Amino acid sequence: MNIVLLGPPGAGKGTQGERIARELEIPKLATGDVLREAVRQGTPQGLEAKRYMDKGDLVPDSVILGIMKEALCRPDAARGVVLDGVVRTVPQAEGLARVLAELGRKLDVVLVFDVDEEELVRRLSARTVCENCQTPYTGRAPGSTCEKCGGKLVRRKDDEPDAIRTRMRAYRDQTSPVIEWYRARARDAALRGQSAARIVTVDAIGAVDEVTARVLTALGK
Ligand code: ADP
Ligand code: ZN
Repeated sequence: MNIVLLGPPGAGKGTQGERIARELEIPKLATGDVLREAVRQGTPQGLEAKRYMDKGDLVPDSVILGIMKEALCRPDAARGVVLDGVVRTVPQAEGLARVLAELGRKLDVVLVFDVDEEELVRRLSARTVCENCQTPYTGRAPGSTCEKCGGKLVRRKDDEPDAIRTRMRAYRDQTSPVIEWYRARARDAALRGQSAARIVTVDAIGAVDEVTARVLTALGK
């Protein structure tokens, strides 16, 4: 099963994506994680991406399409993949459709996380992540210790208030039209009697386990 996770920053795509991937026994691709790793290693791609990410802007589509293609061609992704934050602009959605078609595959589900903006700002400003394994935490001060690996918790640069605002704007202007793009494609396919990715919206407010249960039910698990 190939699944795209869509939703604003702080909606819980990373946390839920991890759980969905484990449940379905398929890998998860998170472009945010791939880019942060490139930044950490100081690769040319990382250096370019950093200029955008620190401010909360989206990195150029070409960078994302490269990451997407490379990841989908890996053998362990042949049975399916959870794509977290991989599609954030209409050109990226078009690119993904093209890459999947080239591989003789298709997108099965677009999972949309629904959360209001107030809650998002609250979550993001209370978030820290493990410097080492990237596990996100809510409400734990920077400098605390990661439960999973003992690494140090830090605040992401793009979780500073100005960057949060920029990311929200990027979501509203560039990513939310992607949902409409998938809806239009589904309507179009239906008119031709063809199938298209199923669009599923999940209420992403509540305890992590509750949201996971909603997601898995929606996916028919
Ligand atoms: P969030 O979804 O909470 O904003 P991520 O960790 O998924 O955080 O992504 C962090 C940053 O990486 C984004 O703000 C953006 O700069 C960059 N990024 C990740 N995925 C994409 C993408 N598909 N297109 C453009 N930029 C991206
Ligand atoms: Zn850790």
